Amino acid sequence: MDKKIVIAIDGYSSTGKSTFAKLIAARLGYIYIDTGAMYRAVTLLAQRKGLIDSSNNIDVPALRSELFDGPGHDVNFRVREDNGSSETYLDGENVENQIRSMGVSSQVSPIAAVPCVREFVNIRLRRIGAGKGVVMDGRDIGTAVFPNAELKIFMTASPDVRARRRLMEMQAKGQEGTFEQVLANLRERDYVDSHRETDPLTKAEDAVVLDNSDLSLEQQLEWIDKILEKF
Ligand code: C5P
Repeated sequence: MDKKIVIAIDGYSSTGKSTFAKLIAARLGYIYIDTGAMYRAVTLLAQRKGLIDSSNNIDVPALRSELFDGPGHDVNFRVREDNGSSETYLDGENVENQIRSMGVSSQVSPIAAVPCVREFVNIRLRRIGAGKGVVMDGRDIGTAVFPNAELKIFMTASPDVRARRRLMEMQAKGQEGTFEQVLANLRERDYVDSHRETDPLTKAEDAVVLDNSDLSLEQQLEWIDKILEKF
């Protein structure tokens, strides 16, 4: 594929978007951006600054000022030299493990619903995507961040399959959580993400749907290869 394009992958939580997006990026020599990690990093920041309480009440003016006034904050990704994986940094600190905890997962959707948080993240995503040759996964990439993306994919899978996958990922990292907790968190995030006012999770009209409930990774790659042939 000679032409460099933007590939937007959206969909429900834990549908395997990031695994799939990373493989596509590696195949094409593109940059992969995990946009959820940015919302997670902002959530960790809000928690550390005491700007969200246990009932998910958010001090929005203080959060806006934290993000936009004064020196602001830096969220970016660095690639590890030993295994090539990308890790998330908040103000120079590696927060990759902390942003995947249940504590952050349980508050990220309310934080991501705040318009100034979306503005903060979108400025950064559009800057990265301007150069094309990028695969981004998230909830609103094909609808709001890059509505003109050349290829849009909408991923979905049954909630049980998704919860099982997420739990396995967490267990592999030694993180706590039961199947029921993970399933409840997925359902909650799907609901909040699809019903928020600003850029809710929804399939772009021109997105192709991939339901991978019963598909192996290999089958998903065969599927994408056929689509990429057309570019
Ligand atoms: O992709 P991941 O599950 O890590 O995303 C965490 C949360 O970040 C989502 O549940 C959603 O609330 C928010 N998000 C978003 N828009 C994106 C990516 C993630 O609102 N583009």
